[in-house]
Amino acid sequence: MSVYNQVCPACCSRLRIRSSEGQSPCFRTVYYECTSLVCGAKFSGSQTIDYELSPSGLEKPRLKLPLAPHAERMQAARFSQPDTDQIDLFDTEESSHA
Ligand SMILES: [Zn+2]
Repeated sequence: MSVYNQVCPACCSRLRIRSSEGQSPCFRTVYYECTSLVCGAKFSGSQTIDYELSPSGLEKPRLKLPLAPHAERMQAARFSQPDTDQIDLFDTEESSHA
């Protein structure tokens, strides 16, 4: 599960995405709203897909992007590692039935 961590530039409260609009397969305009009722600021920004980290499994993908630079692929691999401090539900269930 992913958590959206963008914060309001005005007050540092969490932002929520109010809506977004696709401009192309790799570019969306995003409209944000601050979750603080006191602040209430609204913003627009963009979300892009720049590179492939691993290629599509499709025989003929609709779009083929350049492969990400090595350093970026390594960083993505580190971010996709499971959190080692988190309790594994299946380990817990197995030990309670033993
Ligand atoms: Zn705010």
